Order: sequence, then C-alpha cells, then structure tokens
Amino acid sequence: MSFIPITSVVIGPDEEAAVLEVLRSGKLAQGPVVAELERAFAELCGVSHAVAVNNGTVALVAALEAVGLGPGDEVITTPFSFAATLNAILESGATVRFADVRDDFTIDPAAVQALVNERTKAILPVHLYGLPADMTALTAIAESAGLAIIEDAAQAHGARVGDRAVGSFGTGCFSLYATKNLQCGEGGLITTSDDAIADRLRLLRNQGMRVRYQYEMPGHNWRLTDLQAAIAVPQVGRLAETTQRRAANAARLNEGLAGVPGLTTPSVPEGRSHVWHQYTVRVGADAPITRDDLGKHLDEAQIGYGLYYPRLMHHYDCYVDHPQIADDATPLAQQIAGEVVSLPVHQHLADSDVDRIVAAVRGGFRA
Ligand SMILES: *Cc1c(COP(=O)(O)O)cnc(C)c1O
Repeated sequence: MSFIPITSVVIGPDEEAAVLEVLRSGKLAQGPVVAELERAFAELCGVSHAVAVNNGTVALVAALEAVGLGPGDEVITTPFSFAATLNAILESGATVRFADVRDDFTIDPAAVQALVNERTKAILPVHLYGLPADMTALTAIAESAGLAIIEDAAQAHGARVGDRAVGSFGTGCFSLYATKNLQCGEGGLITTSDDAIADRLRLLRNQGMRVRYQYEMPGHNWRLTDLQAAIAVPQVGRLAETTQRRAANAARLNEGLAGVPGLTTPSVPEGRSHVWHQYTVRVGADAPITRDDLGKHLDEAQIGYGLYYPRLMHHYDCYVDHPQIADDATPLAQQIAGEVVSLPVHQHLADSDVDRIVAAVRGGFRA
C-alpha cells in the first residue's frame, strides 16, 4: 500500500526548459521572465497590474505599506489563518482586530462591520483553502466606511466571486511557495488595478528606484528572480486545468463522505468558486472518533493529512499581550480550529486514491 501525500509537487518538462533558458542567458535576477509572469497573472486576475515579489508574506507587507498603513491604524482580519497574515500586519506597525468566521471558514462580514471604528483603515480577508471570502458583502462595508481591501489570496489563485477573480477586489496578495496551487519554491505576486499603488509597489520592491540611483522613497529589495519566474510561467497556462482536477477530486470526496454522522464536508456558497488548495472537513463534538484518533487512523491507512490550523494565530504565547493585537473574541473560529482536518485533494490523485481516502475516513467513523 503506497502513501498518499497531502501535497505532491511535479516539475514538468516545460518548467525545466524555461529554467534552462534563463540559466543559459546568464541573467538570473529580475528581468523579462518576471515581466512575463506579471503580464500573464494580471490577465488571469483581470487586473491592470501584477507586481512580483520574493514571497507571499512580503506581498502582504508590501501591500500594507503601499496602501499607507502604519502605527495607529487598525486592520480587521480573521484569526483563522497561517501566521504570515498576522506577522505581515504586525510588521506594518498597524493594530490587528479579529473578526469571527462563518461555517465556510472565511471572515464573517457582520463581525467585520461590528469592529469598524474611526481608526479602521483596511479589511484583510483570507481566501482560506482556496475559497473566496464573501467579497460582495466586504466590498460594500469597505466602500461605505472608506476602507482599503487587502486580500490574502495566498491559497486562492484563480478563485472567483461571480465573474471577478480574487485579487481584483482591492490589493491582492498571492504566494508562490512550493506547496501552493501555483508555485516556484518561493515567490509572491501582488495584483491591483490602481496605477498609483502599482507604481509605489514597484518602487518599494527596488530600493525606491525608478531610475538607477535615483531614490524616490526608502525602499527594500523584494525582487523575484527570472529563474523562479520561469518555473511559475508555464503553470499559469495550466492553472485552469489543475484547478479543474482538484475540483473533480473534491466533488468525489464530498460524494463519498456525504451523510457521515459527526463529519462536516466543505460546501461552496452560491456565487463563489473554490480552487481547492485544501479539502477540509470538520470532526464535530458528536463524532464517534476524536480528531486525534482519526489522525492515527489515517496514519495507519497511509494517508497524509494536515491540521490547517490547529490553533488561532493570536493564541500562541508569542502573540499573547502583544501591544498591536486586540484580544477580540472569535468563538466559532476557536471551535473550528479544534475540528478541522485537511485531506489530500491535489491534481495528481487518481480516482482510486480518492476512494481509498473516503474508505479510510469512513472506517474511522465506522460509517
Ligand atoms: C502561504 C501563505 C502565506 C505566505 O506566503 P509565503 O509565500 O509562504 O510567504 C500567507 N497567507 C496564507 C493564508 C498562506 O497560506
């Protein structure tokens, strides 16, 4: 019985050829291949600009700086995410407020609305697991209160709300980390249709320079290399197909796991499209098995799984009492963090793999 991993990275001949071409050009740093990646990704998202940076966390930090956030400003986000979301806001100097999530794992617009006050400057939703947050409701709140929207779309390349892609509702931040749906080891992309923000992002990325040694603002070195961009470019062209395979696996999992008492399978709210970075179920308090025991059962069945994320970010000791973090109560997020298990859904699974995952989970639940 072979092990079914939760992620599987396959670098194909297109990527190999593109990287070799960059190597032979002798120009390894940011250049024409980064520009090509930016053009392709901006088109995919239906925005005027994509700006490549060296990772997804930097994409968030850069977006916060470009939008003008700093000490004294409040940013409303979800507590149920990867620590990068929180770390980026802390790096900007702004204060973090946490709004609770809904059953779909994304931030609850009503909870966001309740936190808006005169210090609020931005809403930072996370399109967790590849499912867009409720951008229709969040956009309405942002517009009426004059807030910026920064989307953490690190897990959601190509996901849509209606006919609009994520990353087009404000400033979009994507990760190209090794295990993301679109990846080049380490990398990031920022999307915007605001010319001034795009211009600031390009300056910030390159030591504040538009023209060499003409510094217009204090900047950073946040550049991506052509070597890495070469790995990502061919994947942009294949993204619709890989997403479609992930969606087919998710549908097969949902069908196979339907009606198991105590197990909640993921659902996709009307009007939103999910790109299935993760397929995440909940093991409820009424389940016949604990989450820990389901984990042991999956280990025995040689099936990889992940707990994304086992605790709320700000409940780790290093964030408790942090001066930039308000200890907002988010009871549903806290409950959900204790219940989630992500199962393999990636594009390299065969139907027989999916069926083995279903059988193993059902076996654990004796259903
Ligand atoms: C991966 C990820 C990031 C950070 O991206 P890196 O490229 O790893 O820096 C931020 N937010 C979320 C939700 C992520 O999953």
